[in-house]
Amino acid sequence: MRRVFIVGLLIVLWTGQLNAQSRNEIQIPDIPGYHTLKCDFHMHTVFSDGDVWPTVRVKEAWEQGLDAIAITDHIEYRPHSQDIVSDHNRSYEIARPLAEQKGIILIRGAEITRRMPPGHLNAIFITNANLIERDDWFEACREAKDQGGFVFWNHPGWKKQQPERTLWWSQHTRLLEAGILGGIEVYSNKGFYPEALKWSREKKLTILANSDIHGAVESSYNPAGSHRSVTLVFATERKAESIRHALESQRTAVYFEGNLAGESRFLTPIFNASVEILNDYVGLENNQVRFIQVHNHSDVDYVLKSTQTAIGFNYQKEVVLKAHRTTMIEVNGISDEIKDQDILKLKYEVLNLIVAPGEYLQVVLEAYN
Ligand code: ZN
Repeated sequence: MRRVFIVGLLIVLWTGQLNAQSRNEIQIPDIPGYHTLKCDFHMHTVFSDGDVWPTVRVKEAWEQGLDAIAITDHIEYRPHSQDIVSDHNRSYEIARPLAEQKGIILIRGAEITRRMPPGHLNAIFITNANLIERDDWFEACREAKDQGGFVFWNHPGWKKQQPERTLWWSQHTRLLEAGILGGIEVYSNKGFYPEALKWSREKKLTILANSDIHGAVESSYNPAGSHRSVTLVFATERKAESIRHALESQRTAVYFEGNLAGESRFLTPIFNASVEILNDYVGLENNQVRFIQVHNHSDVDYVLKSTQTAIGFNYQKEVVLKAHRTTMIEVNGISDEIKDQDILKLKYEVLNLIVAPGEYLQVVLEAYN
């Protein structure tokens, strides 16, 4: 009797300690041929100048719907080193078991931290962060590359390092020409660098948006108002090797402050996979008003502005397709020419889908008439 009671009590206590955890998925759809992986390749822990233990980064990543992260503690800047005595690989090693348990792809990384030029550079997919501690910044970058690492320039327009203008330096050309520099942050720690977006095209660099977070994510992002910035990686599989291959092939876009930026070859299929026209048929005639119902399956509010007038009908010039909502777009027949329009084509540019600085993605919403 007593044993049954104790076993029963243990079961109650034990099950009482199982915590349900919930993950907020980031709803940005896959595109034909690729998974759209949500990644953050720049963050810190107490092993450099961050405030949190490495496992916290994994926990946050899981809760916030990320697929992959790289912890990139500074090599040259470790203000807690008197309290935390360890080598440069330790934050990765501590985080790894939890990452495996939670299914988060953890990529080994480090931040090479120098004055401008060349500023700060992240090295990810490295094998040994300790060997990247070098006096010469170029040798540090070369070592990262020799380890099979992917090197990118962090927050290129960071005001502390480039107060006047965001400049490209000869040191970056040197890294580029040596085949070492592979990418550039277009957005980092709440700063957008349009110059970086421009350079990414000219110099064939992979674009990234990362958090560069130092404190707890919770205290830095208001869940209702803003989202964590992420790099969208278009990978054939949800695996570290596929991510590396995508980064080396410039198969990324960036998601920050409700915007997506990147090449139209990625933004167009994301938009098309996000929106669904619900009408089978509009049936618009002259002097009539009808509505086209558009559902948006993604987390992104698409901000549409018309670019062209149509023949035989008018359509709403400005529309916001709210995330996870259905929006009605008003169309009205203005001449008998509407009879000849078998398909109504609504041509817009999407003001928060940025293809290049000042250039937005062109889209067409089509409905049968
Ligand atoms: Zn950093």
